[in-house]
Amino acid sequence: MLKLSYLCKSYDFEVLQDICLELPDRGFVAIAGESGSGKSTLLKCISLLEDVTSGEIFFNGENLTALSKGKKDEKRGRIFAYIPQSTSLMEDDTVDKGLSYFSDDCNKRIAVLEKLGIADKKDEIARNLSGGERQRVAIAQALLREAPVLLCDEITANLDPENAEQVHAILKELSKERLVICVGHNPQTLKNMPTE
Ligand code: ADP
Ligand code: MG
Repeated sequence: MLKLSYLCKSYDFEVLQDICLELPDRGFVAIAGESGSGKSTLLKCISLLEDVTSGEIFFNGENLTALSKGKKDEKRGRIFAYIPQSTSLMEDDTVDKGLSYFSDDCNKRIAVLEKLGIADKKDEIARNLSGGERQRVAIAQALLREAPVLLCDEITANLDPENAEQVHAILKELSKERLVICVGHNPQTLKNMPTE
């Protein structure tokens, strides 16, 4: 279980104030907020990419905020996958080569690409991929790392409606086995995400 306890984050002003949340091991959580409201900051704090100003983050009872920097780096890699709006890939590598940094098991890589519907892009050079395909590769990286928590930062904002719907359907399916947290600025988009 992921628990946020009175999480605060300030830069030169307060962005997040006393966020308290308890989220289960599996399921789909959508968080909507207007641009600049602190959605990315929240996801970066949860995934330990940013230090919080105060408050705690617990994962399965362990206080992650109390850990040393080295331990935080280790936990970040094992627990969280933060997927940004625009994914940077190794542009000159093929999809499969890029994924080999995340798993050296070729069969596993193929199985994940099949699950995400992009097995035919295995040998494509990353820079030739469409936006939707790139987001799927980013999700594939997270799956190969076996991250139990996926943090999706407006990942369908740049996609056309059809691709956005497909990525939402994938996330929904993945949320049967892990926690998927999606943030977006458009509550309507989040509302249209498949719920069953
Ligand atoms: P959202 O993702 O909801 O659009 P952000 O979390 O990116 O919002 O930003 C929330 C606020 O924090 C904004 O006013 C933004 O300018 C500010 N902010 C974000 N990151 C930094 C930073 N590294 N340094 C200073 N201010 C920041
Ligand atoms: Mg943002």
